Amino acid sequence: MSSKKHLIVLSAPSGAGKTTVARHLLKSFAFLRFSVSATTRLIRAGEEHGRDYFFLSRDEFKKAIEHHDLIEYEEIFGNYYGTMKSVVSEAIARGEFLVFDVDVKGALSLRVAFHDDTLLIFIAPPSREVLAERLRSRHTESEEQIDLRLARAEMEMGHQDRFDQILVNEDLQETLTRAEHIVREHTDGAPQQPSLFGDR
Ligand code: 5GP
Repeated sequence: MSSKKHLIVLSAPSGAGKTTVARHLLKSFAFLRFSVSATTRLIRAGEEHGRDYFFLSRDEFKKAIEHHDLIEYEEIFGNYYGTMKSVVSEAIARGEFLVFDVDVKGALSLRVAFHDDTLLIFIAPPSREVLAERLRSRHTESEEQIDLRLARAEMEMGHQDRFDQILVNEDLQETLTRAEHIVREHTDGAPQQPSLFGDR
């Protein structure tokens, strides 16, 4: 068994800083690729189909479920999100390492599917209050949506002990550095020159 983990799975309550960590890792390690998920949620400003998500209609997503095209999927805040088999199998065939941004249930499903090839990293907010404050300050959700996200955060925090690593995101720079160290440690031997492309 190789000690290398090809599937680096990040999970965190919404607002804990997971996207920032994912972007940092993708910039720091040229051999990492972002695992682009499928979703039925609406595209946000600045997002791109095929780069951030594959944006599907509910019908298209249901067909993907019926055709067993997804490794795992969850319904989150009324939308479907799922990991596509083709994305993972193509990356593995190319010898690439993947970074996932999925909810905790998705992370645990990936562990069941890929066992020792997964590294599960949970990014936790320093406290509930800080999380609420971060969600409010980004002004992307209504109060009602924030309440839903905070309720879901409770559930997600309850699963953190099942992760290999827990990063409490108190100081962002320190969290990024620690995440980088963890990934370096678990991907030893992979080429580690900085990416020529800053995007994911
Ligand atoms: P957002 O709408 O903010 O991009 O994502 C909402 C939640 O869906 C986040 O917790 C994100 O990690 C999760 N998510 C994104 N893609 C997937 C996926 O493929 N599978 C699962 N289970 N969750 C996902």
